[in-house]
Amino acid sequence: MSTFRAIRIDKAEKGVTAAFVDFDEAELMDGDVDVAITHTTVNYKDGLNITGKAPIARRFPMIPGIDFAGFVERSTSPAFKPGDKVLLTGYGVGEGHLGGFAQKARVKSDWLVPLPQGLSPAEAMAIGTAGFTAMLSVLALERFGMTPDMGPVVVTGAAGGVGSIAIALLKKAGWRVIASTGRPQEADYLRNLGADEIIDRAELSSPGKPLAKPRWAAGVDIVGSHTLANVLAQTQTHGAIAACGNAQGLDLPGSVAPFILRGVALLGVDSVLCPMPLRLAAWARLARDLDHASLAALTTHVPFESVLDVAHDIVEGKVRGRVVIDVA
Ligand code: NDP
Repeated sequence: MSTFRAIRIDKAEKGVTAAFVDFDEAELMDGDVDVAITHTTVNYKDGLNITGKAPIARRFPMIPGIDFAGFVERSTSPAFKPGDKVLLTGYGVGEGHLGGFAQKARVKSDWLVPLPQGLSPAEAMAIGTAGFTAMLSVLALERFGMTPDMGPVVVTGAAGGVGSIAIALLKKAGWRVIASTGRPQEADYLRNLGADEIIDRAELSSPGKPLAKPRWAAGVDIVGSHTLANVLAQTQTHGAIAACGNAQGLDLPGSVAPFILRGVALLGVDSVLCPMPLRLAAWARLARDLDHASLAALTTHVPFESVLDVAHDIVEGKVRGRVVIDVA
């Protein structure tokens, strides 16, 4: 029997259990490429999965971990050969298909992205699903025609993974960035990433008016619920907000006033099933535009053994920026 180290989630009487195991290769799911995983990362969804706070896993046993980077070990696909460096985010990996908190993954070649030139596997996971989602949010605003000369951009959930990378990317693109955070102690961290102004997230998190004084032209919202409703209500005419997260809640308790009286646009962002051409374009732009020093400043590296602790921390809002897990 051939095994590899992995975290395994099983259904328990109440919720789930998550523990390190020696996983039997025979239990791997279908796929035409085997990847030796060198690095992974902990995203918010992984935290929900491991703590059982939300029903993320769609089969049991499950190996969590919605993204990973490594090199191809075996391939029956003409697109990849042994030794190729690759990364994967989304496609239900870590949810419906065995995921990245493991030394090995067997996946469909259609899901893999060749590691972009200029990024190491560790840097690719410092970006991970969170940074990829931040990039998709910026691209959504740009596709809608938003430019920095129109006014400032607000980023909510600023000190988290998506928020930190969104700030760095928006600053690089020339925006004046307003960062909304519940962690005032991270003000210097956020300014170093590119935030020009920091506001208290409490200004946005309670029920507000359908329309309020315009404060920004654009936004990347990671938080949802009342925060997104208030962000929309405070967006200037013909502005746009990219919505990618639900850290406060899945609800959107607002009104249509920003849409019909100010022409504000709400742009949805999904990283999981993002089409491959947009996926490749987003990774190429991340490799080109995301400053290596900024990425290093927002990244913490921890060993594989720490992954369960980080998963609990992220759900409790204690993780700053991004955490890379060194699997190898
Ligand atoms: P993190 O935990 O790293 O960051 C989330 C941040 O949101 C926290 O750091 C905190 O920022 C803020 N926050 C947390 N709880 C609340 C609350 N109750 N009210 C207001 N703000 C809160 O997670 P990620 O950055 O990785 O993910 C952020 C969101 O994006 C999640 O909801 C995640 O599910 C979603 N997501 C969506 C994807 C997609 O494809 N659409 C892909 C990846 C993530 P601060 O401390 O600065 O206030």
